[in-house]
Amino acid sequence: MAYDPNNIFARMVRGEIPCVKVFEDAETLAFMDIMPQSDGHTLVIPKVAGENLFETAPESVAAAIRTTQRVARAVQRAFSAPGVVVTQFNGQTAGQTVFHLHFHVIPVYTAGAWRPHARDKADPLVLEAHAARIRAALGG
Ligand code: 5GP
Repeated sequence: MAYDPNNIFARMVRGEIPCVKVFEDAETLAFMDIMPQSDGHTLVIPKVAGENLFETAPESVAAAIRTTQRVARAVQRAFSAPGVVVTQFNGQTAGQTVFHLHFHVIPVYTAGAWRPHARDKADPLVLEAHAARIRAALGG
């Protein structure tokens, strides 16, 4: 499948649609998942176009992983999460629904218990409050 430059994450990078941002640098962006699988579920993307892990330049993947590590540490601290899952899907069959490379950072509070993937929208005010906690943990 050809990369769609109008996918939702590409539009966030261009500032065409809003997201609840927790971190941004020249190469990457991290923001709250609107259908979080647990409280604090954050997504990290490289800014460059790339459908998945295979279609993105290694340097951009490396930048995204650096940000993922940093954000995952902050999420763990902000929510005192005993566990954190990092996932990344390639292709519809694997569960990918947005075709711009992204890493999920999902805090886990009870073994094996998190909400279904991309199903229930969170209250925007709750997402904003969670993002504030992560931003504070990133700064500290
Ligand atoms: P995938 O299924 O491709 O691995 O993950 C896509 C993720 O993007 C899902 O977890 C879904 O909840 C999230 N998502 C879908 N649309 C939006 C949106 O408009 N804004 C945000 N912040 N997340 C979204």
